[in-house]
Amino acid sequence: MTDQTFPIIQTDSLDLPDVYEDPLDLMDEIDRLKVDKDATILAHYYVDGEIQDVADHCGDSLQLARVATTVTTSTILFAGVHFMGESAKILNPEKTVIMPDLHAGCSLAESCPADKLLAYQHELRAKGHDFETVAYINTSASVKSLCDWIVTSGNAREIIDRVPAGKEILFVPDQHLGRYLMEVTGRDMILWPGSCMVHEVFSIQDLLRAKKNNPQSLVLAHPECPKNILEHADFIGGTEKMRKFVTAETKPLTLLIATEANMIHPLQKAAPQHTYIPVPGIMTSSGETCACNRCPHMALNTLQKVRNCLKNSQPEIVWQPYFEKAQAVMRKSLL
Ligand code: SF4
Repeated sequence: MTDQTFPIIQTDSLDLPDVYEDPLDLMDEIDRLKVDKDATILAHYYVDGEIQDVADHCGDSLQLARVATTVTTSTILFAGVHFMGESAKILNPEKTVIMPDLHAGCSLAESCPADKLLAYQHELRAKGHDFETVAYINTSASVKSLCDWIVTSGNAREIIDRVPAGKEILFVPDQHLGRYLMEVTGRDMILWPGSCMVHEVFSIQDLLRAKKNNPQSLVLAHPECPKNILEHADFIGGTEKMRKFVTAETKPLTLLIATEANMIHPLQKAAPQHTYIPVPGIMTSSGETCACNRCPHMALNTLQKVRNCLKNSQPEIVWQPYFEKAQAVMRKSLL
């Protein structure tokens, strides 16, 4: 015996496997419940394809935040991660916003807790820095309430141009996106050392091996990827920009996709003429695929949980006092 101790796990918080149910039956039930419950389903490109297929709108964070403000139903079901449900509620306080699993977090958002950011802002000001804080949308609402601007990979350049030239920029939480934005905007930034666990796993050796195995291929990479991956990309862009890129290319191409693997679903739907290969999905020495490019938080969304959430109108994102400050920042940045 060792003296190692183990955490006590509350069984009611375990993500226990559900009883198998036919996905097609679930999809039919979800369609009926959407009408009964006066609900609209918004799904991020990184959730399972079958959830994207029952959604009323699929998109990246910016698109979905904007679409959320045009929804006419009384309820929004957001299939994505927690900060996205918060954003939908912040921009639509009068709507009921529900999520399939409130435990679906985001490693990037969690890398920048509000108390640490506040302390760092105080420290920088005490040292004489005169700055505005620009936050990637992948942050909690409490962090957004401490910032001056919110950006997504889709609108970051445009927003950074709005920061007065005489101000420094503190960029949180994604160091890789921040570094990429420094290059494309020419603005110096103080970078928060956060990153996304999914985009961080891409290894340069795996990418080069994939390129060698597919000599005619092009690499499409998300700007959350580390610099050494972006250096080998033929196209760099967020999820919606990737979708536009593949639809504009009519000639069949082989495309290596360096972002969350579920992104291949909307790409394939939008432009089936291409062959899509997930990076690093083909990279094991045996030639098998691996699942390290799947976001474990997004994967908490399942069809069963979507159905249950609609049926029970729970769990719900409840309005918090700090949402008001976050709302002002989000409205001026995103709408
Ligand atoms: S893919 Fe990365 S940034 Fe996106 S939700 Fe998952 S952990 Fe967060």
